[in-house]
Amino acid sequence: MKARVYKSTGSWYILKDETGKQFNGRIKGVFKIGDITSTNPLAVGDWVDAEMENEKEDSVIITSIYDRENYITRTSPHRKVQHHIIAANLDQALLFATLKEPRTSQGFIDRFLVTAEAYHIPAILVFNKADLYRKKETDKYAHLESVYSDIGYRVELISVKEHKGIEAVRDILQNKTTLISGHSGVGKSTFINAVFPEMALRTQEVSEWSGKGMHTTTFAEMFDLPDGGRIIDTPGIRELGLVGITRQELSHYFPEMRKVLNDCQFNNCLHMNEPGCAVKAAVSNDTIDIDRYVSYCTILDSIDEKDY
Ligand code: GDP
Ligand code: ZN
Repeated sequence: MKARVYKSTGSWYILKDETGKQFNGRIKGVFKIGDITSTNPLAVGDWVDAEMENEKEDSVIITSIYDRENYITRTSPHRKVQHHIIAANLDQALLFATLKEPRTSQGFIDRFLVTAEAYHIPAILVFNKADLYRKKETDKYAHLESVYSDIGYRVELISVKEHKGIEAVRDILQNKTTLISGHSGVGKSTFINAVFPEMALRTQEVSEWSGKGMHTTTFAEMFDLPDGGRIIDTPGIRELGLVGITRQELSHYFPEMRKVLNDCQFNNCLHMNEPGCAVKAAVSNDTIDIDRYVSYCTILDSIDEKDY
């Protein structure tokens, strides 16, 4: 039986087969993926093969895992230990951001985008709470919208409160597996409840979207959308991990830098103080946004290659 992991608790898993029937799955003994041996190797979104263990109780034994198309890990405070995989086989990652109550910093947005680039997962930015924006935030949004759409990201402005723009986001989610990310308080739960009220009504697992329960666990969980498609919620995971990105490759994960890199005088240019740097030239003539460059420098600074 082929099934997909919807939830991992560390010792057992909630799975659904291709017809949507739910099972409790577990692994017998240790499991080997690539060269990693683990008793808890599966992530939400993984596809597995499983065998029925007990017909009545819907419990199955997971026998093997399919190769992952992609995956995302969590920042580990102890980078030398094995990285915890949050979710696998994603079609896209959607960041909920706000410019007010609370304000999402551009640095945070850029770290998210770099992570998505590094894992080859298309990223989408959704700015919520448009109803709160005054001139300052409206101007800021216009600037960000232009910066990020120019470099290839889809950007949406919505107000869940006033039901503005949310249909576009609903369309983005349709028939895709989407990782939902964003600081607490930006309106993720409110959005889900507004767009998919039938989810909120249906089951207890989904009502966790609106309750405090959802924030007490740090396990990712996948939910079927009534429209088709799935969302992966990552409660308690503040930031995705920039695991394994080297200083040298960082600029490849900035699409606008990727375009000019080959024009740098030195092919190992880090775009800091090197002469003949095409990235710095592009920043000076405003073809690369200065704040994006600042994010680049900040992330570069935070990468400590001794950790890898
Ligand atoms: P989450 O932590 O991302 O799931 O955020 P919540 O969905 O819990 O929302 C946090 C707060 O923001 C709640 O008080 C919501 O009512 C409020 N909120 C959500 N969307 C909007 C919006 O579009 N405009 C305004 N003004 N408030 C919103
Ligand atoms: Zn350079």
